[in-house]
Amino acid sequence: MNWMRLNQRWLFYHHCSLLKQTYNLTTKRFRYKPKWATHEKRLTNCHQALGHFDAFYKPVYKYDWPSIRVSLLSLPKHCAAVNYYGNCRKTEEKLLDLGTSDFLLNADLSVEDQLKSEALQENTEIDGQEKDSLPSNPSNDYHDDSLNNHTNLSGEILQESQYADDDLNVFVPTEKVYSEKDQLLREEMSLNSFESRDISFEMLPAETLNYQQDLKTFVFPSGVVSKFPSPKSYNGVLGYYLMDAASILPVLALDVQPTDKVLDLCAAPGGKSYLILQSLRFYEGGKLHCNDSAQARLSRLRSVLKLYFPQDVVQQITVTKMDGTSVFPTAYNKVLVDVPCNSDRHVVTEDENNLFKISRTRERLDLVHLQKNLLISAIKSCLPGGTIVYSTCTLSPAQNDGVIQAVAEELWETSEMEVAVQDLSNIRHALSHTFKFYDKSRYGLTVLPTLLNNFGPSYVAKLRRMK
Ligand code: SAM
Repeated sequence: MNWMRLNQRWLFYHHCSLLKQTYNLTTKRFRYKPKWATHEKRLTNCHQALGHFDAFYKPVYKYDWPSIRVSLLSLPKHCAAVNYYGNCRKTEEKLLDLGTSDFLLNADLSVEDQLKSEALQENTEIDGQEKDSLPSNPSNDYHDDSLNNHTNLSGEILQESQYADDDLNVFVPTEKVYSEKDQLLREEMSLNSFESRDISFEMLPAETLNYQQDLKTFVFPSGVVSKFPSPKSYNGVLGYYLMDAASILPVLALDVQPTDKVLDLCAAPGGKSYLILQSLRFYEGGKLHCNDSAQARLSRLRSVLKLYFPQDVVQQITVTKMDGTSVFPTAYNKVLVDVPCNSDRHVVTEDENNLFKISRTRERLDLVHLQKNLLISAIKSCLPGGTIVYSTCTLSPAQNDGVIQAVAEELWETSEMEVAVQDLSNIRHALSHTFKFYDKSRYGLTVLPTLLNNFGPSYVAKLRRMK
């Protein structure tokens, strides 16, 4: 009997405690009603950028994409570009002591020689053919299977038929009204797709690489992620400039000679102007015009010039603050146009001042248009026979090969000016020990970041103004 009472009492207490717990929970639930709208974390700008790249780059770079992605999120690797105006010999000795080496000196010239003779042979064969019947580039399969597949922003592949329904050229009945967000999404899709077409302009064979450019660029061996110490001052100027080694490629392609008249159309903060000045000689008639549209960035350019060059050199450099799409005199035989772009590495690592900020969507979507106009302006300011180098620090095919193709076609159809695209496979082969190049770029070179050599991303294309 006693045992029965005990059991009943236990059951009573157990029920009471359950009720109490439920009551507590219920009251707590009402007391701390979560406000999902404010508690849920919003995607950061960097996450927006990564999502965008997953959607647009993954179908292009395929199996390389995971490695590129993790490299973009890891510490970048720098190179030290030696200053001709400092004490070069001492600086070089110091850099060698650190265990670095000059990657231009170590370029594989044997491959380049081989390539040169191949190019010569190809050129002789091509000379006998009509220009229009030039075979299209073998790397025409840029988008091979992704040509018929398109990706939406969440990374899903849309088949051609599905995409066709959504095509901008398809008649849209007036009842179908798109929200502003829909329209931006559709614009995003069309602006970020690049489809290579049969080329209607000339491709020039690779030229001999000029290593006499006074460019001395030191890097740590592959897989070594040590940092360079700050440069020392010699003769009143700093001994080396630290930059992404892939930034050397546009200037290498520009092939600066001491007497060249060079326009650097988007020059600030001045990394590439610094490299151009290593080879240019004012006393031999060389000229440099640095232009940029941003005042704050131009101030940084001015301080770079002050820190790295003697006063008499700085005084001879023309610095202007102009919109690069406005009219410049046709007075230069070399023009560099290092355009504003997605800046892939920056947008996935720096949340502030990020191009993928919602409020900067319009600016971002207008980039391709701006890039085309800047390239056209660069071509106009280049003398016939001169060289134009176009470069970016993005992997976006639309902002790279896409801009070259669109501009060359537009000029072919609407203008007296004519350009040809210069093959850069000489640089690609000679420097493949240092950089990983994407092997399907159609008109230029694309450097893919890797964990062992975390340079880039970078794209460079070289045009020659024919008329
Ligand atoms: N070449 C520079 C260097 O190596 O240090 C980096 C150039 S950065 C990739 C692009 C530059 O283009 C920015 O400094 C930006 O201010 C400039 N820019 C943007 N729009 C421009 C325009 N319409 N005209 C001229 N420069 C422009």
